[in-house]
Amino acid sequence: MLNDISSTIDLFQQLYSESARAIYFAPGRVNLIGEHIDYNGGKVLPAAISLGIYALISPRQDRKLVLNSLNVPGTVEFNLENEIVYDKKNLWANYPLGVAAALRQANLPLEGANILFQSNLPHGSGLSSSAAIEVLTWFMLQSEFGSSVDEREKIALQCQKVENEFIGVHCGIMDQFAIAMGKKDSAILLDTSTLEHEYIPLELNNYCLVILNTNKKRTLADSKYNERREQCEIALSLLSKKTGIQNLCEATVSQIEKYISEPVIRKRALHASTENQRVLDTCAALRSHDFIAFGNLLNESHRSLKENYEVSGHELDSIVDAAVKSPGCLGARMIGAGFGGCGLSLVEKQYLDDFSRNVKKLYAESTEYKAGLYPCTISDGVHKSTLV
Ligand code: ADP
Ligand code: MG
Repeated sequence: MLNDISSTIDLFQQLYSESARAIYFAPGRVNLIGEHIDYNGGKVLPAAISLGIYALISPRQDRKLVLNSLNVPGTVEFNLENEIVYDKKNLWANYPLGVAAALRQANLPLEGANILFQSNLPHGSGLSSSAAIEVLTWFMLQSEFGSSVDEREKIALQCQKVENEFIGVHCGIMDQFAIAMGKKDSAILLDTSTLEHEYIPLELNNYCLVILNTNKKRTLADSKYNERREQCEIALSLLSKKTGIQNLCEATVSQIEKYISEPVIRKRALHASTENQRVLDTCAALRSHDFIAFGNLLNESHRSLKENYEVSGHELDSIVDAAVKSPGCLGARMIGAGFGGCGLSLVEKQYLDDFSRNVKKLYAESTEYKAGLYPCTISDGVHKSTLV
């Protein structure tokens, strides 16, 4: 929760000369484990986190959307009498405007409104601030102006479509799904191809998750992502000829070792197979509250992403290495596409201060960047806040 939400309420009043009618919140998300396997038929384990975006709203008498964000300068005013299309000059406001366009396309009511966003979620670091602002805008506009709110799964799918088609980013469903469907103290075991899902209890008690921001941009991520996808397709075609499997994550280690001789393709397949198993093992560990096992699985996941999938890099390795060497850490791994962005660590709460100090020091010694640390808990998905 933002400490200064009361000052945001005051700022809304100053900006729009009236009080906010309601406040909504959408969390960011973290994928606990199951990295780079969503496109290989594997399962993922995301959770909504306590860092996220607030939005304050009041209806207007005219047909304008007037959008402000305390995180980005400049007001964007849009007249709803006009067609809503992507426009570079609208900058960040393309996200809420893309949602408005999708609401209109779905024949849902859309009225003029004053909106103010405020976030404590770092942008562009892999915590999915883009999906958070989309899901937040959809849920808020539909709650304020619609007769009833759509099923959350439907909101997730609609917002993924906004990101794919209006914004032009070809993301999967995981981010919007976790943000719409998240549950406090639960992770979501999600099959991204069928949307079949199950809530796995995640009561952190004496532990906490700490996001580790390398502050290095994910420069190589796009080109390497495409290359990895192609390599996995080659691995699957080699295996399916011999074994008939249709899903790379279902291949066993012995099948991979027997049927794939090319060393790079073999390593990619080994990551997919073992990472999928780690997702299942993590669910078992969480069900039995075995945080030591969860920490070890994070470490193994990082090793596989680094050595077999080769999507880490100096900064991610340095921050993960700094974390595992610091007091109270049970395990850590890189998260997201790789080559920069964030890591995730599991830390005993009582050591949090020492842990943070040590990670910052070690990371500064081995890279030119400053580490950003964000302790978080597991939160509910998008919701109306009770603050006003
Ligand atoms: P990620 O989703 O990993 O955080 P993206 O590049 O996909 O990174 O999305 C980040 C973009 O989303 C920002 O550059 C900005 O345009 C928009 N955004 C996210 N949060 C906010 C906010 N609180 N206020 C304004 N724009 C935001
Ligand atoms: Mg994004």
